[in-house]
Amino acid sequence: MKRVVLLGPPGAGKGTQATGIAEKYNIPHISTGDIFRANVKEGTPLGKKAKEYMDQGLLVPDELVCDLVEDRIMQEDCANGYLLDGFPRTLFQAEHFDNFLKSKGQELDSVVDIEVSEDVLLPRLTGRRVCRNCGRPYHVITMPPKVEGVCDVCGGEVYQRADDSEETVLNRFKVYNEQTSPLIEYYTASGKLAPINGEQSQAEVFDEICAKLGD
Ligand code: AMP
Repeated sequence: MKRVVLLGPPGAGKGTQATGIAEKYNIPHISTGDIFRANVKEGTPLGKKAKEYMDQGLLVPDELVCDLVEDRIMQEDCANGYLLDGFPRTLFQAEHFDNFLKSKGQELDSVVDIEVSEDVLLPRLTGRRVCRNCGRPYHVITMPPKVEGVCDVCGGEVYQRADDSEETVLNRFKVYNEQTSPLIEYYTASGKLAPINGEQSQAEVFDEICAKLGD
């Protein structure tokens, strides 16, 4: 059984690591950011509400998030565990979720906290680009497309997500520091926090996470 939460500031590499962890432990990767982005793309009522907050780097209100995740983890594919990426993001969400788990006789196994300093994160995030068509990620310094603005794979437009602009990134750090970082203390107190050095290579970060999670 692996019920795992991935914690860390914006740009710490949660999404990238989540893919590998979900595969290794054969558990679903549940990303609230991905769920909201899919709803925005489809123009659902939830997506319309969420977009206003997301574009400014603000958190979507707690009441739109908790039920969504709590319904999702009761689905059959979560019977052997799950990996939550981007949830909980506030103390309210963490406490609400703990109460929900308790009412179901469940408990989290581990909260993996990927630690990276803001000096490292800022250029990582503001340099990030993505293909509007196929979603392939790029970076202006470390992984630019062969032709500026054009996707190597599908020829689509390579652009900057609204929430990766410098102004929004600085706002996301502020939101993280004020609203999400208190969760580090919260999960330390419950003995679930597994701090990981996120300033290593992707492979090293992955190995450290697996060592903490065990077999
Ligand atoms: P992410 O891809 O995890 O950075 O999420 C993108 C955006 O979705 C965030 O900046 C928030 O606006 C929203 N979001 C994702 N997860 C949550 C959450 N647990 N609580 C509130 N807002 C969230």
